[in-house]
Amino acid sequence: MASTVGMPIICNAAVAWEAGKPLVIEKVEVAPPKAMEVRIKIKYTSLCHTDLYFWEAKGQTPLFPRIFGHEASGIVESVGEGVTDLKEGDHVLPVFTGECKECAHCKSEESNMCDLLRINTDRGVMLSDGKSRFTAKGYQINHFLGTSTFSEYTVVHVGCLAKIDPSAPLDKVCVLSCGISTGLGATLNVAKPKKGSTVAIFGLGAVGLGAAEGARIAGASRIIGVDLNPSRFEEARKFGVNEFVNPKDYDRPVQEVLIEMTNGGVDRSVECTGNINAMISAFECVHDGWGVAVLVGVPNKDAVFMTKPINVLNERTLKGTFFGNYKPRTDIPSVVDMYMRKELELDKFITHRISFSEINKAFDLMLKGEGLRCIINMEE
Ligand code: NAD
Ligand code: ZN
Repeated sequence: MASTVGMPIICNAAVAWEAGKPLVIEKVEVAPPKAMEVRIKIKYTSLCHTDLYFWEAKGQTPLFPRIFGHEASGIVESVGEGVTDLKEGDHVLPVFTGECKECAHCKSEESNMCDLLRINTDRGVMLSDGKSRFTAKGYQINHFLGTSTFSEYTVVHVGCLAKIDPSAPLDKVCVLSCGISTGLGATLNVAKPKKGSTVAIFGLGAVGLGAAEGARIAGASRIIGVDLNPSRFEEARKFGVNEFVNPKDYDRPVQEVLIEMTNGGVDRSVECTGNINAMISAFECVHDGWGVAVLVGVPNKDAVFMTKPINVLNERTLKGTFFGNYKPRTDIPSVVDMYMRKELELDKFITHRISFSEINKAFDLMLKGEGLRCIINMEE
């Protein structure tokens, strides 16, 4: 096969032309990578709720046409000038937030909020020149989260790519590129429950069940799942969630129910819904004196968090995290290794598999609240 290095590639991509309308598979021209960029061939991608929010654009800034997708696995096709730690053929996971390795955040052990490459949901272009690398039907197509994985080829900043063990199965570890690592890290790196403690998880989608997997690994003894959709409960049992609360079953705030169930509040809570009321409940249900609540869900851009200051004065801690505080390049290869050593289970997160041509089905499944992760095979 003739080399494509330095040349534009014409390939299929699923373009969102308008908010909430089915994606259309189009022939897209993908420009070669510029300085510090990498062009990758996407092998598998899946849909995370963040894609759905920005595609619906109900409480988010609309930016169309756009190529969504940020949870994926791929193989490096070519690298731009200045890229030294990746080469053609490397296996990678693209990540929606990056690690430049130079800034104060990247140098801090505590932060993954890189100054240069931190998540920016409103940017649709590459950093180096403020332009898109995608063209279709004469239009520049916006990028999403610097990843745009609903395309056979995409261009990503080198700082947003984790180089992983080439023997790791790409059709499974793709879920570590966003949702599962986010939930897992929110518990293990941020909430840090002690062995034997009680953890409440709000939202039992893939992110919430990633958080539950973290609670199981940390040795929590009570893992309480909170969700409005009771069909989630059966599945959640496989993840060690052993008690369930549906806020709809009560005519009082769910935090009161949880405080009563636990004699004063849970030790840790992790919110994985994106719903502002769930965020407030997740904070108010933690025990005074030591409770820690971690917000993970992406809220509407105008949402405001309201609670009485006395709830904080009473020694409750509120935290938030992107990507479970993992630094994509430094930490994600070892999360993949955790899976390879069978310490972390991924198969149970994968409930559906479809071909790229059927990508709109993945949106239907998520809208109906069915299943956890639907893996899209880019080669079918
Ligand atoms: P999902 O749709 O699969 O799961 C969300 C679950 O929350 C659903 O089961 C839904 O029924 C439940 N829910 C909604 N409102 C609720 C409420 N008020 N109370 C209780 N349960 C409620 O989504 P997902 O892919 O698991 O993502 C979960 C959230 O995490 C989304 O907001 C997503 O945008 C966000 N996210 C954040 C990061 C990050 O780095 N912070 C990364 C990935 C995803
Ligand atoms: Zn940085």
